[in-house]
Amino acid sequence: MPLLVMKFGGTSVADLDRIARAAEKVKREVERGHDVIVIVSAMAGRTNELVGWVNQTSPFYDAREYDAVVASGENVTAGLMALRLQEMDVPARSWQGWQVPILTTSAHGAARFIDIPRANIEAKFAEGMKVAVVAGFQGLSPEGRITTLGRGGSDTTAVAFAAAFGAERCDIYTDVDGIYTTDPRISAKARKLDRISFEEMLELASLGAKVLQTRSVELAMRYKVRLRVLSSFDETDENSGTLVCDEDEIMELKVVSGVAHSRDEAKITLVTVQDRPGIAAAIFGPLADAGVNVDMIVQNISEKDYGDQPGAVTDMTFSCPVDHVDRARRAIEGARAAGTIGYEDLVVDTDVAKVSVVGIGMRSHAGVAARMFQALAAENVNIKVIGTSEIKISVLIDRKYMELAVQTLHDAFELDRAG
Ligand code: ADP
Ligand code: ASP
Ligand code: MG
Repeated sequence: MPLLVMKFGGTSVADLDRIARAAEKVKREVERGHDVIVIVSAMAGRTNELVGWVNQTSPFYDAREYDAVVASGENVTAGLMALRLQEMDVPARSWQGWQVPILTTSAHGAARFIDIPRANIEAKFAEGMKVAVVAGFQGLSPEGRITTLGRGGSDTTAVAFAAAFGAERCDIYTDVDGIYTTDPRISAKARKLDRISFEEMLELASLGAKVLQTRSVELAMRYKVRLRVLSSFDETDENSGTLVCDEDEIMELKVVSGVAHSRDEAKITLVTVQDRPGIAAAIFGPLADAGVNVDMIVQNISEKDYGDQPGAVTDMTFSCPVDHVDRARRAIEGARAAGTIGYEDLVVDTDVAKVSVVGIGMRSHAGVAARMFQALAAENVNIKVIGTSEIKISVLIDRKYMELAVQTLHDAFELDRAG
């Protein structure tokens, strides 16, 4: 039997009616002759609620218990989806991660797959089951504890199952009808793409376009999974949505193909740290140990004259997610108390956002950065930090300008126009 993986995100299973609507789509694929593995998210808002409960109970929580709590949202939707399918005379059953078992590392809150043995699910397909409904986002550690894969992780569960079972395709059903040039909630001019390359989608996802979890794109690229994003609300067929595929399957090649944003960033500056070999390691080592996700880093030689040692001090600035600020502060203050670093002041700005432009064409085109900075300057948006890679340019700006910056860059690179 050809096998399909169909993943339904939170909004697509937000209530019983939507679960029923998703089940209709699954039934249609079964009628077309597919065995189906359905991956479900928790109902919309449920994971946030669970995370909130954990934080209220224990601010510096035991990550194993965090996972035990937040993984539970998916269990509910898996069972409900299986029940709904059974009511529609589709032979289905639910699977929690540990039942498959989905084996992961023990990096709680950010676990990675080790293996997804096929035997249990295949045995049920052989007995006539048509649909395996699997709880997304969760797994089982070598220590026998429940793990989760990081926010948005059900996308990654879906791609991993598609790879493990050699699925014909991995369809990600969500609340938009495909991948757009930018978040359609921010720019009305956002344009749906028929195709996007793995490389570009990987950048967009890692820069904040949460339509796919970054890791899911990585896995799809590595295992050559045909990955598609489409609407769970509209009528869909085999041409719907956006296909994420190899660069050489794409006709339309623009210099910039998308704009991404990440709203909840913070900028932290250590003012006047001593400029000596090892200082960066002394700062970023403890941050890494504390699990702080450091993103952009800027170090500048201070030309200020400090006593008899001009240039002997520097400012060190980095960005990280807003909800890592407390951990970061603790790690840095701890290092100062331990005497491994010294600084005059620690300045934390929690009102910044990151906006990025992404495009494979940047590899061979100069002038993208200049055009980006001119467009932002024309709107009086001040740039605080700049970061670049081969196919992206990111800027950190005041959060209140984020929407404006996205729209401005979308216009500046004419992303509303095809070709
Ligand atoms: P799900 O619950 O189905 O996993 P998510 O909320 O995680 O859905 O992802 C879908 C959302 O991603 C959309 O509602 C949209 O606001 C957002 N998004 C951000 N960037 C893009 C983009 N470039 N194209 C499409 N959607 C995007
Ligand atoms: N429910 C989880 C989350 O909100 C996983 C997912 O939906 O992909 O992050
Ligand atoms: Mg998601």
